[in-house]
Amino acid sequence: MIGKILTDIRRFSLDMIAPRTCPCCGARLSETEDEICLRCLVSLPRTGYAGLRTPLRDFVDNGSGEPGFCAAWFFYDHTTDFADIIRSAKFDDRPAFARALGRLYARELLSAARVSGVPGHLSDVEILLPVPMHWSKLLGRGYNQSREIALGISEVTGIPVADNLIARKPHRTQSLQNASRRRDNLVGKLEAIRPGELDGAHIAIVDDVVTTGATVRECVRALSVSGARPASVGLIALARSAN
Ligand SMILES: [Zn+2]
Repeated sequence: MIGKILTDIRRFSLDMIAPRTCPCCGARLSETEDEICLRCLVSLPRTGYAGLRTPLRDFVDNGSGEPGFCAAWFFYDHTTDFADIIRSAKFDDRPAFARALGRLYARELLSAARVSGVPGHLSDVEILLPVPMHWSKLLGRGYNQSREIALGISEVTGIPVADNLIARKPHRTQSLQNASRRRDNLVGKLEAIRPGELDGAHIAIVDDVVTTGATVRECVRALSVSGARPASVGLIALARSAN
């Protein structure tokens, strides 16, 4: 309670000096709004995957015999203002924003499960595995947005974030590649370390955008090559892009 009051006071003070604005519409945020204004949050083009078991097999055979799941919060269309949510999280030096998105999304997944009475994606996930970023890109960007999103989800759910996936070689930003290049761009560049830690666990790969599934497919391949034997692998992405 005291922590929340202190956070509100700090936020109010910062707002007086440098007003926070919504990345979608540019409106000034109130003290109670968490990085996106309420109006944009309500009109977010949701996929409806939040409370549903959308099979991961649409994207990848996860190799565990389980269908897994693919959760995506909203549709990503680069021609709309909502695309600025992803752009801001990735390119605007805003790790706190990416983390806030993870928190908002996790809260929505949990409340969808509560309202529907159907256990949601997060009910059986034991480990969050962010899609890794090569150190050379990390050096330039300063943070891995997928890891920040996972940390935001973790703050709400308590599910730990692990670092068993690593990028051995640099690759170009997936969202800027066409479908076949996406596949070639990543193959053999990710690696899973300490595979024994993942045996028997229900895992969720965490990414910012899912398009063709090339990234999650490469993550699953890396897990399989390392000898990891997770009980299931799912995907939690912030957005689903059609192209
Ligand atoms: Zn807005």
